[in-house]
Amino acid sequence: MKAAVVTDFHAPLRIEDRPVPAPGPGQVLVRLEACGLCHTDIHAAHGDWPVKPSPPFVPGHEGVGVVEALGAGVSVRQIGDRVAIAWLGYACGRCGYCISGWETLCESQRNSGYSVDGAFAEYAVADADFVVPVPDGVSSFEAAPLTCAGVTTYKAIKVAGVSPTQTVAVFGIGGLGHLALQYARIAGGFVIGVDITEPKLALATELGADHVVNAATTDPVEEIARLGGADVAVALAASPRSFEQAFRSLRRGGRLVCVALPADGTMAIPIFDTVLKGITIVGSIVGTRNDLAEVFRLHAAGRTRVIAAGRKIDDVNSCFDEVLASTVPARLVFEF
Ligand code: ZN
Ligand code: ZN
Repeated sequence: MKAAVVTDFHAPLRIEDRPVPAPGPGQVLVRLEACGLCHTDIHAAHGDWPVKPSPPFVPGHEGVGVVEALGAGVSVRQIGDRVAIAWLGYACGRCGYCISGWETLCESQRNSGYSVDGAFAEYAVADADFVVPVPDGVSSFEAAPLTCAGVTTYKAIKVAGVSPTQTVAVFGIGGLGHLALQYARIAGGFVIGVDITEPKLALATELGADHVVNAATTDPVEEIARLGGADVAVALAASPRSFEQAFRSLRRGGRLVCVALPADGTMAIPIFDTVLKGITIVGSIVGTRNDLAEVFRLHAAGRTRVIAAGRKIDDVNSCFDEVLASTVPARLVFEF
């Protein structure tokens, strides 16, 4: 099978011919139909973060495909099921986090395309309990971006507690942002889209943003203050400066939801403003299997749109360049 492999943090990925993996006990073998390219895959391939994966490894955590074989003891999935392989590849199911609905915080978790091989390949093995069924009304191509970009922003809007008529500023209209703004609208919020390129702002408007702000030409903090300030700011751009702007755009009682993970990740937060304005700052990491099932249900019901362009896995390195240059519409999806 063909797989895109990280062999070194300082070298391009290699397209290798590898044997199709055999599913171990409790695992399924998935023949991939699509896998989205997330910014996290680029951070993984470059070893950008404090906790690093160990080369060689296969990135990819927006994998969608069909179960082709079952490992020993698997009864929850069947051959022929179409499933998604998400970032949360495994959690223990027994710890306090797992049993209280926070499996995404499990300290024993394994992550697809990071600590275990992911879905930038024609086949992948995955834990049968942690693949998420994809409903018939959702194509594999569209399910792929929903599997990380979708569930991550859906969860961010959930933890922000957006209620109808609240103003939600979405900083960064890309793979995540174009979905975040749709979930904010579904929750009843008014949406301000912030980005630094006009095509992304046009996309935000097309998807229903009430206002857009070009942070390259306008100070987003001033502009959002002029609009009354944000009740919720969602930081999706991998830039500490954008996080600080998101913080300063909040009105009293506002919530900053931190989602992007800039490689150089420190933000300066003024304590005085945080206290006097009663600001909440919360980190939000992906979402649970149940959150992803909800994301798929919304999409199957026609409540969200996925904006993505198809690519071949052979072009993985040029696709990284495209994402880093911010020239992609919203998401790139490898089609197998
Ligand atoms: Zn991701
Ligand atoms: Zn656990």
